[in-house]
Amino acid sequence: MHTKEVGKNLFRVELETGGFKNLICSYVIKGKKPFLVESGPTNSIPNLLSGLRELDVKFEDVEYVAVTHVHLDHGGGAGTLLKSLPNAKVIVHPRGMPHLIDPERLWSSSQSVLGFISEIFGKPEPVPKERVIPVKEGTFDLGYEAKLTVTETVGHASHNLSFQESFNDGIFPGDAAGTYLPEFDVVVPTTPPPFYLDSALASLDKLISLKPSVLYFSHFGKATDAVQRLKDYKLQLQLWADITEEGVRKNWSLEQTRGRIIAEDKVMYEIADFMKSHHIYSKTVLENCVRGFIEFAKHKQGS
Ligand SMILES: [Zn+2]
Repeated sequence: MHTKEVGKNLFRVELETGGFKNLICSYVIKGKKPFLVESGPTNSIPNLLSGLRELDVKFEDVEYVAVTHVHLDHGGGAGTLLKSLPNAKVIVHPRGMPHLIDPERLWSSSQSVLGFISEIFGKPEPVPKERVIPVKEGTFDLGYEAKLTVTETVGHASHNLSFQESFNDGIFPGDAAGTYLPEFDVVVPTTPPPFYLDSALASLDKLISLKPSVLYFSHFGKATDAVQRLKDYKLQLQLWADITEEGVRKNWSLEQTRGRIIAEDKVMYEIADFMKSHHIYSKTVLENCVRGFIEFAKHKQGS
């Protein structure tokens, strides 16, 4: 079983990329036509397709695959997925579009940022240009008087989109609202370089103003108390920013900065052992996300 019902007309597909559970998921909105959110990475497209079969989704019926952004874990598999969905088009931010059509540069930069994790996700295949729909803001009809609204929420990436669906009043934030760890019911930052704190905070204000009731994280799953979580995430980003700014001023190493974050951020303190022993999060959250803040702070301090 790859799938789980998480709301009215809404299903989560556990992608189990690289055999890792609770790491990456896609969503299927069953409106008048099936609407997918996130292709996930190339290597777990077979799991997504078996999830679609489990949900009785006919491949030729899928009209849209909306990707929150083009990073390998969200939109990397779009090209491979479209080979099985003959009528589907990909919705993406205009700044992400070139990377879907020609993923070579994205692949080489992902290899240098993610290291071994890029191989777990897999190399993206190109999406034919005529099958890409660039969108910054707009709405899509889901049928049954429901709609999906696209909102630009940059910061994590210069091209992150969020999608709000009106069946349940939930938002798919991509990586604009952090990584949700369902095992602990907490959120941690998703802030690899290049990370833009000011834009990320402004995007969170945008999401808060939409007053969603639930969040559907791509990492990982549905979380309630959406507005409170978004507000808490803003405070968490601000705390990490304060610590790293001090660290950059005092020339701390990445390890020293990370140590201070774990000591001062209650959430990180609680889950530090889990994160340190996690094959993926030890590299992404504990290293890349801290580095994102350090580089932002250095840039801000002009060094
Ligand atoms: Zn991600």
